[in-house]
Amino acid sequence: MGPLKTEAVVLRSMRYGEADRILHIYTPQHGRLSAIAKGSRRPHSRFGGRLEPFFRLRMDLHEGRSELLTVTGAHTVAGHARLRTDASALDAAARACDAVGRLFETSEGHPGVFHLLCNTLSLLDSDPTRATRAHALAFRLKLLVAAGLAPRLSGCVSCGSQPGLTRFTGAGGGMLCETCFSTGNGRESWRGASFPLGGEAMEFMTTALSRPLAQVPDAPAAALGQVERAIADTLEHHAHVRLMAASNGRT
Ligand SMILES: [Zn+2]
Repeated sequence: MGPLKTEAVVLRSMRYGEADRILHIYTPQHGRLSAIAKGSRRPHSRFGGRLEPFFRLRMDLHEGRSELLTVTGAHTVAGHARLRTDASALDAAARACDAVGRLFETSEGHPGVFHLLCNTLSLLDSDPTRATRAHALAFRLKLLVAAGLAPRLSGCVSCGSQPGLTRFTGAGGGMLCETCFSTGNGRESWRGASFPLGGEAMEFMTTALSRPLAQVPDAPAAALGQVERAIADTLEHHAHVRLMAASNGRT
């Protein structure tokens, strides 16, 4: 990779040495990258205060001697100032960035993931009260789809039947019907780790996946709990990733 001009969202920003920062950034075409911004913590640094988490930037990066790219320019596309004034929105943004960084940790490009992350940051910034558990779960469901792990909700993962979908299997990647569960049809590993997932949770997942992130449906806390477990089980089985809780407990 030679000189690289790219948009990026800052996922993490860590102090390094006397005056530098090391950044984890997420880019549309090159996925997650790490870069050093030399001198960025000196007073009057040309980078100003924009190398902080949640900034969407236009960046100039160069290959250095190490694995780290070097930041040579950074211009703000969106600073998300309003989001930073609200504790719940900040927390939601941090969890969103953490999820992207851990689920898409390679330099493989996923423009859809970049736009999804920009979209959630922009929504949280325009209205910090969007920082709900439902919003966080809708975001994660869309990340699952981007990762190729969309849960199968329209039919039993074992027999394909539609009626009687009562359980979710992370290993099987979707819903399991009552008949397969109770008669021992299909793989034991799917049945064994499956758990009851009700109609409200299924409805939430189907609706959240079919709508833009700006129109997240709501659901009772118990249903959201089932959705969160379905996402966690899917990620654990298929991506070997365990994410932080979707929200800090407030709804
Ligand atoms: Zn079945």
